[in-house]
Amino acid sequence: MNAAEPARFDLFIDGQEISGQKGERATLKDPASGHAIASVAIAGRDEALHALEAADRAFRESPWAQDDGALRARVLRRLADRLEADAESFARLETVNMGKTLREARGDVAFVVRTLEYASGLADKIEGETIPVPPPRFDYTVREPLGVTVHIAPWNYPLLLAIRSVAPALASGNSVVLKPASLTPLTAVSFARLAHAGGVPPGILNVVMGPGREVGEALVTDERCRAVSFTGSVEVGLRIGEIAGRRAIPQTLELGGKSPVLVLPDADLDRAARGIGFGIFGNAGQMCWAASRLIVHESVRVPLLGKVRAFAEALKLGPGIEDGIDMGPLVSADQVDRVLGYIDAARQDGGKVITGGGRPDDPRLAPGNFVRPTIVEEVPPTSRAVREEIFGPVLSVSSFREVEEAIRLANDTRFGLFAALWTKDVGAAHSLARRLHAGMIAINDPPNTFPQTPFGGVKDSGVGSEQGRKSIEFFTRTKNVLVHLGTPGKRPAPASVRTKPPK
Ligand code: NAD
Repeated sequence: MNAAEPARFDLFIDGQEISGQKGERATLKDPASGHAIASVAIAGRDEALHALEAADRAFRESPWAQDDGALRARVLRRLADRLEADAESFARLETVNMGKTLREARGDVAFVVRTLEYASGLADKIEGETIPVPPPRFDYTVREPLGVTVHIAPWNYPLLLAIRSVAPALASGNSVVLKPASLTPLTAVSFARLAHAGGVPPGILNVVMGPGREVGEALVTDERCRAVSFTGSVEVGLRIGEIAGRRAIPQTLELGGKSPVLVLPDADLDRAARGIGFGIFGNAGQMCWAASRLIVHESVRVPLLGKVRAFAEALKLGPGIEDGIDMGPLVSADQVDRVLGYIDAARQDGGKVITGGGRPDDPRLAPGNFVRPTIVEEVPPTSRAVREEIFGPVLSVSSFREVEEAIRLANDTRFGLFAALWTKDVGAAHSLARRLHAGMIAINDPPNTFPQTPFGGVKDSGVGSEQGRKSIEFFTRTKNVLVHLGTPGKRPAPASVRTKPPK
């Protein structure tokens, strides 16, 4: 990409690339170098309404919702193939926009390809059921698409988190308005172009970037929005939930986390250390389900911490686009300030930084938003560094003697997205999995997910889940059809004694 001429990315509405009416644009910078990489059109309320109108018309008039799902299955499958063929350019775009390493971005694109394949497989299997009722009646259900669905995505996995809900929404026959995060909209716009070229009808997939408060709220408040899938912070999620609740539309809220990782005395410490490392330093710690609170049995604390520290110190920081880089920059300078603020808070509350703790010394990295992988011990559980989501490469460590204490520490949080367990004791693993308050548990694995497995949290981590077969249920509604089979002109046979006659 030529730094002198940032590439243009416009809004994608009704199959067309357009600028906003006011012509506002933002310049996006590579978080690793500060170089301008893209000029992006900014939507306002008018463009949000335009996108809803296009989506609503396409839903009613295009064949997308109307057929048996064969068209959708075919187009989504084709889209998966096209994305796979273009995977490298998508991964590179994600890396220069968001900062993650190319290896991570390739993994994200591969996940999106699988998500599209999975959604394609479901598109022509959306079935109702027949339900026995008193004769002479026949009852059946059909599942129908909702109409226009709105998808609001965060910046940490820009394409992956957008498409994990867009794909099942499309597979179910809905039309979509996607609002990516303002910092990272590039792959979403590129995806809309690819989808359009691959046969998604105009208006079925629209992308509008713009300020969340103005554009996001305009989208969710409008009566044409029939469901919302939101991934982002708790604060904004609660606001979206309020609006959706007032409008009685279905909502999925995928919010933050402060996930514990429990290490029992019998754990394989080498595997656990690697898993813990990936779980907090992957994506430079900018993961909703980052396993950011290590809770380790006192007897293995010293050897385990030695291994996790060695893992952290071996990570090579640098621009994600370069070969051999293990950890890229954070997404923005604001995010660096936020993370450093939490590290300071941990120190002030008595925490001991055993590695990292600030920006790297390497002058080559000075223009980028880099923070070293950081481990802090002995931070009191009341510290905001332990209670709040940092969203950066910072691991806090505490230890336990009795397993009850470990469970209490693990569950002592407003969040409940994910928890990891490391132990060879199968019985202990499964009984602990039952007692941890989280929507997802990993046993002897770092945070890992697949398009076919549900992803969602409890408590302040959200409502509902994404991914898996259930996503089709979210994006469709059940209609019940009751048929009286009596001969016309004849008195209908009496219903069962328990059934009241119609008034
Ligand atoms: P954010 O809440 O600031 O923004 C998320 C999206 O909401 C963006 O597109 C933003 O423009 C939009 N938005 C902001 N204000 C809005 C409003 N008033 N109305 C409508 N839309 C609005 O979150 P972020 O900083 O982009 O992402 C980080 C957060 O996302 C973290 O808390 C992280 O844990 C969470 N997250 C959760 C998951 C999950 O699956 N549970 C996954 C990734 C990230």
